[in-house]
Amino acid sequence: MSKLELEKLIRDVPDFPKKGIIFKDITPLLSDRFSETINEVISLIDWDGIECVAGIESRGFIFAAAIAQKLDIGFIPIRKKGKLPPPVISESYSLEYGEDTLEVSTLYNKQKVIIVDDVIATGGTLSASIKLCNKANLEIHGCLALINLSFLNDLKNSEIPIKSVFEY
Ligand code: AMP
Repeated sequence: MSKLELEKLIRDVPDFPKKGIIFKDITPLLSDRFSETINEVISLIDWDGIECVAGIESRGFIFAAAIAQKLDIGFIPIRKKGKLPPPVISESYSLEYGEDTLEVSTLYNKQKVIIVDDVIATGGTLSASIKLCNKANLEIHGCLALINLSFLNDLKNSEIPIKSVFEY
């Protein structure tokens, strides 16, 4: 299936979960074309030397775990506050619809990682994840998402390369 046909399986849901938000519903894409979608994300970068994929809870886990399995590399969970056992570090951030805190374990040792999420909106979640991975002594080589709503963020100017399959 072409990228354009894959894109047609993403549903725009207006006013969810709050008025004014156009929610990108990727569930039809996941149920119809999961493997192809994962391959599209994988094809965005050269994975040579990458040791782990860091997935952002919760939809980032879907992508990161599948990529880690496919490429036979490690998986690192970036989780919502209170889910990981200590020692962890935390970072608070604002969402397109609310506020949250993310945590990551500090037991890693300079692994070369790619951070993955489903959708980048304001970029708050991704920026917090980048800060966390830096503090956790991980070596960030890039960030990937299925969808980047780039009109909502200024991540174009980020020092870390950020790529997505679909950009709006
Ligand atoms: P942000 O921190 O604003 O970049 O928000 C990113 C997180 O919120 C991602 O983990 C997405 O799963 C979710 N998200 C934010 N906005 C949307 C949207 N319009 N459609 C789907 N998911 C969204």
